[in-house]
Amino acid sequence: MENHNSEKKQTVSREQLFSELKELYRLFEQDLSLINPCCNKCGSCCNFGKYDHVLYASSIEVDYLTHHVKVPDFDISEDVCPFLKNNKCDVRDYRMLSCRTFYCDEKHKEETQLLHEKYHRLIKALYNKYHLDWKYSPFLSQLK
Ligand code: SF4
Ligand code: SF4
Repeated sequence: MENHNSEKKQTVSREQLFSELKELYRLFEQDLSLINPCCNKCGSCCNFGKYDHVLYASSIEVDYLTHHVKVPDFDISEDVCPFLKNNKCDVRDYRMLSCRTFYCDEKHKEETQLLHEKYHRLIKALYNKYHLDWKYSPFLSQLK
């Protein structure tokens, strides 16, 4: 009975955590719309190897994503996001903060960086609130 109750409690707090994260993404998108950086959605930055870019993510964001979508089989040595389909992100609603804040648009680099820092702090605060150990590491290796 005790085990059952604690499992139930964990499920409820995970649902709460995910709903708080979803709300942060919503607020982020609202803030981002005021900057409106340019992106032609070419998908190049999701091909990490070619773009010479390592995408970092917090573990709760990766949990949130993989809770909602199935991770396709992929070869980590190719260094391409497995959710990139025909040069488009296949999981836009669930993608992580680093995906949402990366823009190659130099004109708005500073503003998008500041926004990234703001929401990165807010996501980090969720770890404290839910008594979780902070984990922030390369996205692809968290999927394996
Ligand atoms: S941020 Fe730049 S590289 Fe990435 S999809 Fe948009 S235009 Fe392409
Ligand atoms: S989750 Fe989407 S936006 Fe993020 S790296 Fe993968 S394809 Fe790109």
